Order: sequence, then structure tokens, then C-alpha cells
Amino acid sequence: MNAQLTIALSKGRIYEETLPLLAAAGIHAVEDPEKSRKLIIKTNHDNIRLIIVRASDVPTYVQYGAADFGIAGKDVLIEHNGKGLYQPLDLHIANCKMMVAVRKGFNYTAASQPGCRLRVATKYPNIALEHFANKGVHIDLIKLYGSMELAPLVGLADAIVDLVSSGNTLKANNLEAVEHIVDISSRLVVNKAVLKLKYSSIQPIIDIFAQTTHLNMNNSL
Ligand code: ATP
Ligand code: MG
Repeated sequence: MNAQLTIALSKGRIYEETLPLLAAAGIHAVEDPEKSRKLIIKTNHDNIRLIIVRASDVPTYVQYGAADFGIAGKDVLIEHNGKGLYQPLDLHIANCKMMVAVRKGFNYTAASQPGCRLRVATKYPNIALEHFANKGVHIDLIKLYGSMELAPLVGLADAIVDLVSSGNTLKANNLEAVEHIVDISSRLVVNKAVLKLKYSSIQPIIDIFAQTTHLNMNNSL
């Protein structure tokens, strides 16, 4: 059966690291979304199209069935409520860590004792609130939408909760990571109802993604 399939992806690292998985499933985009302004990208299959959305919007498109499945970071999935979403596969792409970082020289150990109060700037309020609640630290949460690194430098916050991979951005801004909260990678997300309806079209793609992911992991061991 060749059901119509819409796949939600975000530009940048997720798109780049998803291309080989799509290729393994015989799906090739006819245009490069990094170069095109189009938000709907055709593929070599008449019934399969890609939609290019903001990383944090992927779960929403899939939840409402506007996309049948998509790929989203675990950071985004923790912040989203996950309603109606089935997460069958960790793709082990776009790997990074959610961390607490502060200005170099800031005494984080002293400032984060149980009962202390800390100003924390982040794009990830749920993750930050849960992390500090577990430590018994009260936080004043300052919601930002980007460039969290700036906040401690100009006195907006004592600490930030942000994604770190190489640590180069932190280093360039005289910040240091002081606590690891959770490892982050990207997951396949499928609309639960759609998976049942289009099982014979979607499950083979999930299987190929799973095989390819495992091959990649074994090769990198
Ligand atoms: P925007 O940059 O447009 O504000 P965004 O930050 O949500 O949006 P990206 O920076 O492209 O988008 O990140 C997309 C996903 O890639 C994140 O949700 C996360 O899972 C992962 N990611 C983010 N930063 C890194 C990183 N430094 N290394 C590896 N993966 C990352
Ligand atoms: Mg970003």
C-alpha cells in the first residue's frame, strides 16, 4: 500500500544527519531545503514529501497529524507534552548534553546547596524546573529563546541550562559547564493513530531506520 506520507524535519544538523537514514529507505529529496525557501520538499516518491519546520515545532505537527512522523531532539520532546506521540526509536543523531553552565569563577557548589535561590535562564523551563526541584534549589526561571550564553555575562542570570556538544561556545564566552542533566539525541516521533492507519507504509521505514542506526552505532564502536 502506498499511503500519502508527510515527514516533518528541521533544517541544520537534524536534516543533515537524517539524510543518510532516508537514503537507506530509498527516499531522496528532490531539493535541498538549506538552499531552497520552499517549506514542502518533494521526494523521488510521489506519495512522500518532507516538510521543513522549526525544531521545536516537529512534535506539534506530528501530534495533530499534519505530519505522519518526524524527527525531534529529546530536549524538544521533554518540553513538549508528548501527547498522541509514539517514540519508537532513538536515532542517536544530533547528540549533545543538557547542562548547567555558569560564568567561570562563579561558586556554583556554594550557590546550589539545598534551600538556595538561583536565577536560571533557559529555553528549556520544564527540564530546568525538574532538575533544580530534585536538588531542592529554588529557582527564578527566566525564559529565553536563544543565545542563553549571554545571560550570566550581563547579570541576567546566575546560571543557564543549555545544550552543549563541543563546549566551544561556552569557552568562547568565559563560561563553564558545572552539571550534566541528561544526554540528548534525536528520536523518531510518529502520530499514534496514523501509525495504525498507515502501518504498512510506515513500519518498513521505521525498520530500515532502526537497522541503519544500529549499523552506524556498531561501526562507531
Ligand atoms: P533555532 O536554532 O532556530 O533557535 P533550535 O535551536 O531549536 O532552533 P537547532 O539549533 O538546529 O534548532 O537544534 C535542533 C536540535 O538539534 C535540538 O533540538 C537538539 O536536539 C539538537 N542540538 C542542538 N544543539 C546541538 C549541539 N550543539 N550539538 C548537537 N545537537 C544539538
Ligand atoms: Mg540553535
